Amino acid sequence: MSANSSNLKRISSRPLKRNNYATARARMLEEQIIPRGVTDSQVLAAMGSVPRHLFVEDALQSQAYGDYALPIGSGQTISQPYIVGLMTEALNLRPEHIVLEIGTGSGYQTAVLSQLCAKVYTVERLKPLFVKARRLFDQLHYLNVVCKLDDGTIGWPAYAPFDAIIVTAAGPVLPSALLTQLADPGTMVIPVGNRQSQKLMVVRKCDGVISEEDIEDVRFVRLIGRQGWQP
Ligand code: SAH
Repeated sequence: MSANSSNLKRISSRPLKRNNYATARARMLEEQIIPRGVTDSQVLAAMGSVPRHLFVEDALQSQAYGDYALPIGSGQTISQPYIVGLMTEALNLRPEHIVLEIGTGSGYQTAVLSQLCAKVYTVERLKPLFVKARRLFDQLHYLNVVCKLDDGTIGWPAYAPFDAIIVTAAGPVLPSALLTQLADPGTMVIPVGNRQSQKLMVVRKCDGVISEEDIEDVRFVRLIGRQGWQP
């Protein structure tokens, strides 16, 4: 844990003033994300603008910009900011891109993606999280986000192919339905491994050829579904 996050934790769990959240966001970029090698200016601008504190419970708002994942209810977590930056940068998004996200969770990653592409289709399997995130997208005017309550391991065939696919829960294997729904060229980012630890994989499809690269050791909550872990 960085000095920054422990400082933030010590501040107490009282909500910060609006300016202080902007300062916390800037420090998050400067102290956690840029030094670890995420430098894409568009990704940094998106993460500098999305109010991460509104995607966590009220009692945790003052810790929202710390260097760690936080609980979001239903046994799930919002990813550490650096991991959101790393995964987003790996997708190489352009303004015209259509993106599929599996694991809406709090909706924070979705909101970051929505700043960088034309449309985000996001799927969540747990109703309380789906309902809360959808309400937040409306309130904050993230209008290019479309949500679905379903098992995302089978993708969203009606809107395929997708220029980019991001999976924010870890599966035992790469779901074949998602690979089929990835455009050519297209990029998918997904953690794959066992329940304790996984590799963050970047999967690229180009001229019909699939290549895979692992870019980080990570620990995500489980991807549960027909092409993931059994409940
Ligand atoms: N990107 C999220 C991280 C949420 S944690 C955020 O920024 O907050 C991962 C989420 O994936 C959890 O909400 C979990 O319920 C969801 N999930 C797990 N398996 C899934 C599946 N098969 N389909 C859709 N969502 C799934």
